[in-house]
Amino acid sequence: MIRIAVANQKGGVGKTTTAINVATALAATGWRVLLIDLDPQGNASTGLGVSQSERSCSSYELLTGGCTMDEAVTATRVPRLELIPATVDLSGAEIELIEYEQRTHRLEQALDSAPGRWDICLIDCPPSLGLLTINALVAARLVLVPLQTEFFALEGLSQLLQTVERVRARFNPELSILGVALTMFDRRNNLSSQVADDVRACLGKVVFDTVIPRNVRLSEAPSYGIPALIYDLRCPGSEAYMALARELIGRLPAPAAAA
Ligand code: ADP
Ligand code: MG
Repeated sequence: MIRIAVANQKGGVGKTTTAINVATALAATGWRVLLIDLDPQGNASTGLGVSQSERSCSSYELLTGGCTMDEAVTATRVPRLELIPATVDLSGAEIELIEYEQRTHRLEQALDSAPGRWDICLIDCPPSLGLLTINALVAARLVLVPLQTEFFALEGLSQLLQTVERVRARFNPELSILGVALTMFDRRNNLSSQVADDVRACLGKVVFDTVIPRNVRLSEAPSYGIPALIYDLRCPGSEAYMALARELIGRLPAPAAAA
């Protein structure tokens, strides 16, 4: 199973929107997909229509040993897409986990306990570089970085890359950046184009060709508890996420790309 952390310590850059819609696009191509909500805000869980009452076994219980993978996984309305939801309890995990042995490897150990059930797993990270994101980076093989196409886009990116580098050096030699996805691109705004050009000049080929436009359909879909890809398959945002998923598949290590 290929494991991808969707990470950026800035909030509101499109992590959750990217995680939900890329996961849906991958499920639509026939892959068995697991999405792990690792943000105490639980936006990925809400966005996939999983109510609070359906979250009795969540990523918090999984990380703290209170439940098994089987118990934590819940179906979504999207065929082949399953979810491990999050609750606010998870905000305590950053502190509680410090007491645990192997505190950085909790998620990895949980995922290792369920081999073969999914083809790919996406981990929707919280907006911080704390122990939750570290757990995601230790468990993952690849990192997908959504970057909002705005003036301070690159600010803070070096911290994220440093964290990825540290996790690679200490715990996870295989970890690498899958790509940077520009989000919320506004084509009527010259600044957006300028920022996109600057980001490409600075980061080069790691930036995906596909750019996710600012599209109100993408922000409406979560309130209906469905991915934008199902809410409005033909809107520019959905089309962009399908293109991103295709590009992403092309970048995966060989066996997975052939799956
Ligand atoms: P993060 O997970 O990084 O905090 P979100 O994916 O939750 O970011 O996005 C932040 C907000 O912006 C949400 O309300 C979301 O619906 C909205 N949003 C995300 N991407 C787009 C987009 N391309 N166009 C319009 N709204 C978007
Ligand atoms: Mg989020």
